[in-house]
Amino acid sequence: MKKAVARKRSEKAVGEAPGTDVWSLHVLGAGAASAIDLGASGAVLERDGRPLLLIDCGPGTLEHYLRSYGALPPAVFITHGHMDHVAGLERLFHSAWFDRARRGGVKLFLHANLVPILQARLADYPGAIAEGGANFWEGFRLVALSRGFWLEGCWFDVFATRHHLPGTSFGVALRGCFAWTGDTRPIPEVLSSLADEHMLIAHDCALAGNPSHTGVDDIEREYPQALRDQLLLYHYNSLAEAEALRARGFRVAAPDGRYPLHAPYPARAEAG
Ligand SMILES: [Zn+2]
Ligand SMILES: [Zn+2]
Repeated sequence: MKKAVARKRSEKAVGEAPGTDVWSLHVLGAGAASAIDLGASGAVLERDGRPLLLIDCGPGTLEHYLRSYGALPPAVFITHGHMDHVAGLERLFHSAWFDRARRGGVKLFLHANLVPILQARLADYPGAIAEGGANFWEGFRLVALSRGFWLEGCWFDVFATRHHLPGTSFGVALRGCFAWTGDTRPIPEVLSSLADEHMLIAHDCALAGNPSHTGVDDIEREYPQALRDQLLLYHYNSLAEAEALRARGFRVAAPDGRYPLHAPYPARAEAG
């Protein structure tokens, strides 16, 4: 099963010529909050080699993004308000604000529940810029959402995850293509409802779980084999841990790794 799914994905990626709807997931960072060397967890969804959506913007994420793509991201989705996922938003604000052509041009997709959290953590800082005259949210094109969002003709599902208080952490998925869980305990019922056999599921996982995060034992206990075969684990604590996860038979994201994706299904009416 694992090989069959992997083969299907790579056939799609290799068989398509560049510029013909080739999708990939560029994992910028795969580290847990304390694993700075592995990069803050985050990724870029690419279409035909072009960045479509940055997922999370922790410390160092924007710098890594700029080294890779040379310009600010066109769109950002934030999973939740922990600093290893949002600390780079202040710098993104500054970069966007002082680039007149981009001011207010970076779409920031945010679950409505996260607006007051980021208001408190980032936007409420007195004097967004020393010169005055700047409102934090005006640096972005804020798109508050609940079930999901449209971007470039694609519907992205947004789903609640299990991470700290209920209703404060969310994952994102594009049907037939990929899911990114953000930080979470296992959510097999959610992923089963979103995934088909083509979907790559990037999932929070370290060697040992805790009340905030998934451990490999949790994955083995709670996920059916078919879903396990589609996982790409990230948010781990060290490269040695990544190797140990691989030794358990899992696919593990490497920092700066690129993973081919199945193209999403044609856009349809908004999924519920
Ligand atoms: Zn985290
Ligand atoms: Zn977190």
